[in-house]
Amino acid sequence: MKKKVLVSACLLGKNCRYNGEHSRISKLDELDVDFIPVCPEEEGELGTPRLAAEMQGSPENILKGNARILTTDGHDVTKQFIQGAKKSLEAGLTSGTEVAILKSHSPSCGVGEIYDGTFSHSLIDGNGIFSHLCRESGITC
Ligand code: SF4
Repeated sequence: MKKKVLVSACLLGKNCRYNGEHSRISKLDELDVDFIPVCPEEEGELGTPRLAAEMQGSPENILKGNARILTTDGHDVTKQFIQGAKKSLEAGLTSGTEVAILKSHSPSCGVGEIYDGTFSHSLIDGNGIFSHLCRESGITC
């Protein structure tokens, strides 16, 4: 049986990014695995295209209700991000995946580096909400 790998759907070519585009990585086609594609922001019913959003705190604080995720116009989308991340995680856990390949810098999927919340293209160390939940559940991102 092929290894199951959770993957950000935009990396496989789905036009689900905030701007209606994808971030396809053609090299992924060479992997002999079963991909489980997810888009946490679409799962959170944010729709595509949508306004860009950035985290205003760590995933831990956001999940505890002590920080928010805001769009460029200041709309609070924290609830939708958390809901979508949990639904996407469930898809991964149900399929038995232990590994995830996730899109960099996203407030959902980013691993290791995310935007700093000022919408100025500045990066800081940190993880998106979805990648944080994946790691907490033992999925290697
Ligand atoms: Fe890609 Fe993740 Fe953003 Fe969806 S939420 S567009 S899968 S980076």
